[in-house]
This record gives sequence, structure tokens and C-alpha cells, in this order.
Amino acid sequence: MWCEVLVEHVKVHEIRWNPLVRQWIIVAGHRGRRPWRPEEKGLLCPFCPGAPETKHLGLWDVIVLPNKFPALSLEAPKPTHPVIGLFRARKATGICEVIVETPIHEGDLCDIELEHMKKVVEVFSKEYAKLGSLSYIKYVAEFRNKGKEIGVSLTHPHSQIYALPFIPPRIKCELKSFKKYFKKKGKCLLCDIIDLEKKEGERIIYENHYFIALLPYFAMWPYEIHVYPKGHVQSLPDLSDEEKLHLADILRVVTATYNTLFDRDLPYMMVFHQKPTDNKDYGYYHMHIEFYQPYRDKDKLKYAAGIEWGFWVFTYDGVPEGKAYELREACRKALRKIGKYLGKTP
Ligand code: ZN
Ligand code: ZN
Ligand code: FE
Repeated sequence: MWCEVLVEHVKVHEIRWNPLVRQWIIVAGHRGRRPWRPEEKGLLCPFCPGAPETKHLGLWDVIVLPNKFPALSLEAPKPTHPVIGLFRARKATGICEVIVETPIHEGDLCDIELEHMKKVVEVFSKEYAKLGSLSYIKYVAEFRNKGKEIGVSLTHPHSQIYALPFIPPRIKCELKSFKKYFKKKGKCLLCDIIDLEKKEGERIIYENHYFIALLPYFAMWPYEIHVYPKGHVQSLPDLSDEEKLHLADILRVVTATYNTLFDRDLPYMMVFHQKPTDNKDYGYYHMHIEFYQPYRDKDKLKYAAGIEWGFWVFTYDGVPEGKAYELREACRKALRKIGKYLGKTP
């Protein structure tokens, strides 16, 4: 009996509306069964050349694979809950993909050669455009999780894409701020933030011709880094070839900086904030990339605990300008080891 119930539960796959915080929750029963670190059990890494998942592709440098345990899928069933009203559910329609950035099993973005890394950026851009063009996709969420500490189940370098049937709450919140600022000032919020950061200078970590990396004045995580395009663009496909190369450069430098900060490989989340793909006009938005890194010290993790998670109130342990100084020093050191790079630390 219990067994039958569990089997039924594994099949539940839908998105449920949380009316208290007004957001969609993806319920995916089958994801509880995904493998945890197969190589630790002596199993083959699914992303290494020669694995059944990649064998048919021959020689490759960057590949896009379907997520084998997708949170969203085109075959998602009709929602199970029959009641319409407060307990609302929708089909979990969407697409989940994995970008395997390199055939090499170990390492980070900074270990990928600059020209190869540019190809990775191009893949992010192409997938955004391809998935975003589908009528039922309202937002293409591209991100990268690295490290055991944040629950990454496969160690082979990879990023992920969730093509969603709704606009994520955090993006909605940003859009509202950009729109409001534009209405009031006739200017872009992020363009103005970049100007101010440049004027103050003390939180800038690295800069090349087209991008700037800094620890924002209003950072929520101790070693949070934002990467801003200096040009006013809304999504990756808006970037020129030359700009994509410079984005590849700055992503390599930021990850090298993290891995130099405490002389150890650091976990992080990297998220691309781009405009939604519902064909509305988002000319007021300015795309950017955010990095969150869970350590607050060499061996102390910063948790999103009661005050952060329960109230969405963040406390910053330290002072952003001090942490930015540490990151800038780490960046200087990292540049000596990284090989080719295109910019400079201030
Ligand atoms: Zn591998
Ligand atoms: Zn702008
Ligand atoms: Fe953002």
C-alpha cells in the first residue's frame, strides 16, 4: 500500500501556485530519484566523452544535452489536483537542458581557454534565442551551480537552462524597478549604477573594454560579484562577436578570482538575468550576470537562515568595500596564473 502511494507520488509533475507569496512552485516527483555523484559509486560520468549520453556526438568541445531529470517537460501530465480555486496548478510545460562546457571532467570556467569559452557564451546565447522563440516559453533561465556545498550532483563542468512558462519573481521585481526608474528619470537604472560604481571605484574588481565586474554597493552575499555589460543590452543575442569574447574573458577572470581568494576551489552560483521572452518591449531593462558564493570566510559557510530565508532580510557579515578589496587582490593574483586575458584590475 505505502509502496503504491510512493510510486504514484513519483509521477506528480506540475507547477503549483503559492498564493501567500504569489509565486509558482515546480513540483517534480521524479527528481527525487536523480543520481548523486555517480563517479563516487564507480559509475561512468554521463558527460565524459564515450558515455552513452555523449557517444553519438563524436568529437565535441561544447554540447547541449536534454536534462535527464527535467523539472519541466513538454510531456508533463495534466495536474492531478481537481480543485480550481485557492489550490491552483498548471502543467509543468517547459524545457530543461544541460550545457556541458568542456569534455574535460574536472575544472572550472577559468580552466577553459578564452576562445573555447567564447564558444560557451555563444551556446548560452543561441539556446536563449532558440528556446525563447517558443510561444509557451516566457523566460529562459540560464545558470551554473558549482560545488558540493550547493548540492551539485555531477562534478563534470556544466551549466543549466530552465525554459519556463512564467517570468520568475526575482526578474519581475527587477523589471518593476527598471521600469519605475525609467519613467521617473528617463534613464536606465543599471547604466546609472555603473556610472556611480565607476565614480566611487572602490568596489570594482576587474574591467575590460565591454564589461565590468564588481561587488555591488548593495550586495546580499559576502563575496557577491556582478558582471555588467557597459552597453545597454537586454539579452545575450544583443551582444556583438567582440562583446561575447569579452564576456568570455570576464567570466574566466571572475571564476579564477574566486578560486584564488582562499587558495582553494570555491563553489558558486552564476545566474544570467536577461529580459523575458514573451515578446513584450523590455527596452528599459539591462541584462547582467550575478555570482553568489556561499562562503563568508575561508572555512565558514554563510547560510540563508531564519532572518534571510524566513523574512527575506539579508545581513551582510562584513563591509562590502572590505570584501571588494579582498576580491580585487585575489583577482590581481589570479591574472598572473590565468594565461590570456583582455582587461585589468583598477
Ligand atoms: Zn565527466
Ligand atoms: Zn542600461
Ligand atoms: Fe539581477
